[in-house]
Amino acid sequence: MAVEQGRYFDDSESRPLQQREEIKNRKLAATIEYAYDHSRAAKNLLDFVGIKPSSGFNLSDLERLPITRKTDLIELQKSFAPFGGLLAGPAEDVERIFISPGPIYEFQPAGINWFARSFYAAGFRKGDIVVNTFTYHMSPAGMLFHEGLRQCGVTVVVMGTGNTEALIQAMLDIKVTGFLGTPTFLMSVIKRAEEMGYNFSENFALKKTWFTGEMLPASLRKTFEETYKLSTSQAYAVTEPGGAIAYECEAKAGLHLDDDYIVEIVDAQTGKQVDPGEVGEIVVTPLQNKFWGLVRFGTGDMSSLITQPCTCGRTSNRIAGVLGRTGDAVKVRGMFIVVKQAALVVSGFENVNRFQIIVTRQYDRDEMALLLELKNEPVERAKLADEISEKFQNICRLKPDSIQYVEPGTIPDLYKTIEDHRKWD
Ligand SMILES: [Zn+2]
Repeated sequence: MAVEQGRYFDDSESRPLQQREEIKNRKLAATIEYAYDHSRAAKNLLDFVGIKPSSGFNLSDLERLPITRKTDLIELQKSFAPFGGLLAGPAEDVERIFISPGPIYEFQPAGINWFARSFYAAGFRKGDIVVNTFTYHMSPAGMLFHEGLRQCGVTVVVMGTGNTEALIQAMLDIKVTGFLGTPTFLMSVIKRAEEMGYNFSENFALKKTWFTGEMLPASLRKTFEETYKLSTSQAYAVTEPGGAIAYECEAKAGLHLDDDYIVEIVDAQTGKQVDPGEVGEIVVTPLQNKFWGLVRFGTGDMSSLITQPCTCGRTSNRIAGVLGRTGDAVKVRGMFIVVKQAALVVSGFENVNRFQIIVTRQYDRDEMALLLELKNEPVERAKLADEISEKFQNICRLKPDSIQYVEPGTIPDLYKTIEDHRKWD
């Protein structure tokens, strides 16, 4: 139950570390046993390495299992439609299905709290009016955040993505006190409001912000806090199977891990857990429900584990935020660009010999450039660029910001399909 005016959302956040580790281990063993019996994907995984689930199943057993990646989910769901053998509960108990890029069908049961602890830690309370600028369309973000905010007693303005000026008007009229979105978007809202002649700090009631979907650079955070007097908080979330895996407290010294997940930081090649402080891939096993037979989901995000106690009193370990990507998918303006999907787009165009995506960041905005090497000339380049751009939008849900034709041989033989050149400091 939520504690209305307490320091923490619930008592679990401050329980002694040893106790919380014991509870998590018990939940892990129970989750694996259940998944083995009810999810074909989980059973295949355990049978593959010859592990029989039992009440003694622990973290070192988990380490022996292969990592399941976003691309595996796409393949699994293609082979065993619609859910890839990942559904471990009765199909009729699925309350809703989201469609993420891939496509990946994400099914959810009713009544699960995914984000409330994170919003509570960000200072959202009853009496706040918070504008939710994440999309309510297809993807889980809008609706899940909405429900988490409600669990903190917040009034939610159902905005979604879209018209900046309508958002500015609503923020003024309704006296919005909180903002949910990406840092890039908030900055563009502030700039637009200033262009319209407003003094943002004086004319707007906005005080609290919460970000996810992209990293919050220290310089931008400083601008929000010092220039615009906004409190800032961020969370690390994954959509499969959806939730705030880790979230910031007021100490802003790393993101606290949520007990509803087992989070491992591993060597992306070997899948072995690395020591605290070492950088590795974030691998997540959800524990919160008997619904997803998803074990060891590899997020592709890199981070490190922080085990020193936090001044806020929350006893959970933390992660250092996202430090980069392992390579098979890159998040651009909050949307994953998956190598396989990009290849699918380009494969439809015979004249393209090779392609590469370069992601950079300019003026606090992600930029995606698509480089193309042509096979046969002459080609109507502008027309081809338009067609590829259109197909990119359909399949990857994002258009390249630029399409550049490069000379044959420019893209080397051993190239990475997506190069992420963004620097976060
Ligand atoms: Zn803390």
